[in-house]
Amino acid sequence: MSNARRCDLHTHTTHSDGTLTPTELVELARARGISCLAVTDHDTLSGIEEAQDAGNRLGLEVISGIEISVMFEPGTLHILGYFVDRNSAKIRECLAQLQEARSRRNPRIVERLRADGLDISLHEVEAESGGGQIGRPHFAQVMVKKGYVKDADEAFQKYLARGASAYVDKRTLASRAAIQMIEESGGIAVLAHPKQLQLDSDPKRFEDEIRRLVSEGLKGIEVYSSCQSKKEAARYRKTAVELNLLMTGGSDFHGAVRPAVQLGWMGDGVTIPYETVDQMKHIILERKLR
Ligand SMILES: [Zn+2]
Ligand SMILES: [Zn+2]
Repeated sequence: MSNARRCDLHTHTTHSDGTLTPTELVELARARGISCLAVTDHDTLSGIEEAQDAGNRLGLEVISGIEISVMFEPGTLHILGYFVDRNSAKIRECLAQLQEARSRRNPRIVERLRADGLDISLHEVEAESGGGQIGRPHFAQVMVKKGYVKDADEAFQKYLARGASAYVDKRTLASRAAIQMIEESGGIAVLAHPKQLQLDSDPKRFEDEIRRLVSEGLKGIEVYSSCQSKKEAARYRKTAVELNLLMTGGSDFHGAVRPAVQLGWMGDGVTIPYETVDQMKHIILERKLR
């Protein structure tokens, strides 16, 4: 298979919970032979400008992206936004609110950890994040460094994952609002890693949820992800074909916090062709002409 114009449409930087700066991420992408990269940090667009500058310097296309967590049970529902205008007033206002919810959450996680007997301060977690947005992986790293757990997995399992003792839910946004925010800022909304909805044992509900999201403006499904097997990808692909949705893919690369996930890897032999990006651009163009 030709490697011409390979894409990775799901990546994180230090602006959310990744460990590479936007520039380092783009440099790595270039070294891996990726020619189109979407930077999709959680709830923030603050890394996009630096990534695009690096992309311009290195001859690599960087798509302005974002990943938004919305309310959902039983699993996790993340919506990716592609080609969002980072200067749109609408998205800036919404993201400021999400950031606020996040900052309210962090002291509460510290409180719960302390109640569990772990001597951890917000200051230590802030230092771990290097001044960027604080996420649960930063709590996990402090816990590893201080010897409370052996690795990040154990930190999540025992304390930070949903249902664990120090879990605090920050999600306040409904999927409709997230999709609307993405659309109104000129972007395309795509369902991230459908496996994490945790509906694989309930195909009927899975399909109902996808249809609901489509009625709210969803344009695609992340069929290929480092967290999804070939078999799972085949199932999501079928749903995408049936509902005439874009089929995207990305590694969900976070750097050293998830060392098993390589930039550009979303399953053996899987590459995302540039046609996928062209399809998104086409949808945006049609919207403008309407
Ligand atoms: Zn996600
Ligand atoms: Zn992600």
